[in-house]
Amino acid sequence: MESILVAGGAGYVGSHACKALAAAGYRPVTLDNLVTGHADAVKWGPLVEADIADVETVRRIAREYEITTAMHFAARSLVGESVSKPDLYYENNVVGTLRLVEALSAEGLKHLVFSSTAAVYGAAEGELIAEDTPARPINPYGETKLAIERALGWIGPAKGFSWCALRYFNAAGADPDGEIGERHDPETHLIPNLVRATLGAGPGLKVFGDDYPTPDGSCVRDYVHVVDLVEAHIKALDWLKAGGASRPFNLGTGKGLSVLEVIAAAERALGRRPPYEIVGRRAGDPPRLVADPAAAMAAFGWTPTRSDPDTLVASVAAFEAASAA
Ligand code: UDP
Repeated sequence: MESILVAGGAGYVGSHACKALAAAGYRPVTLDNLVTGHADAVKWGPLVEADIADVETVRRIAREYEITTAMHFAARSLVGESVSKPDLYYENNVVGTLRLVEALSAEGLKHLVFSSTAAVYGAAEGELIAEDTPARPINPYGETKLAIERALGWIGPAKGFSWCALRYFNAAGADPDGEIGERHDPETHLIPNLVRATLGAGPGLKVFGDDYPTPDGSCVRDYVHVVDLVEAHIKALDWLKAGGASRPFNLGTGKGLSVLEVIAAAERALGRRPPYEIVGRRAGDPPRLVADPAAAMAAFGWTPTRSDPDTLVASVAAFEAASAA
């Protein structure tokens, strides 16, 4: 059985990736410092509790598990926090990744799938955002992810590994079996907050702004189910192994949903009216961010199949119910 190193495998997308890797016949070896991750989300392979910047430990586990392929999810990922603590973001995300790549490439890394973000596009305008849209981040979180992508562009060929950077639009949803889900603290994301509010397990939802230049005035985003996202990671891995070129890919559906449309989906899926109020805009929110996912679809045949809003909301509700039980 081939072992794949999963840096950040105790986090939201990383833990879902471990489940998908195990189902695809790999052994996911999680490397996580558990600062934001959860040990009990690591269920499909071993957990090594260490930092990605711990070169000695990374080299040791790379040797022990004969790692030639890695997926890298470990990062600080809160936009607001990145503005107040940019140094933390550069240290953890950029410096940490450089150390991780140094250690893995010293032990024979061949392929790396890197978790990137639509935040690299900043407030890009246009109906759909393709990968050739100029990357102009508007916060340190997006800057650090872009800095890593650019570094990989030089380090990959120099050290002899191929890579791809998967730029997620809005990761959402949870494992349909209710085993794992999104557990951020504090939770800032729309769908978990909306589901908790609707189920009476949290405060009423605040809708940040209804005066944007969008059809109903609320912000439009491209929500992708986490299970669709991790399926793309496995396809990207296969594509790299088959000799695919190193580059970024968008992961989104190509269909935008407004905050009010997601609220309507919650009402349909949960059969209750979500309690919400409209409040002022949240700083830094662009009106509309929707992916052009054609490149990932063409390169490795990825098609999201679970990313409609009703399925997203229902999966989060199932996870919330399972974790409350
Ligand atoms: N949003 C909201 N109320 C919340 C959380 C989010 O109205 O409690 C809005 C937010 O302004 C944005 C969209 O929902 O337009 C998605 O926000 P989220 O934080 O989930 O993801 P982001 O797009 O910031 O990555």
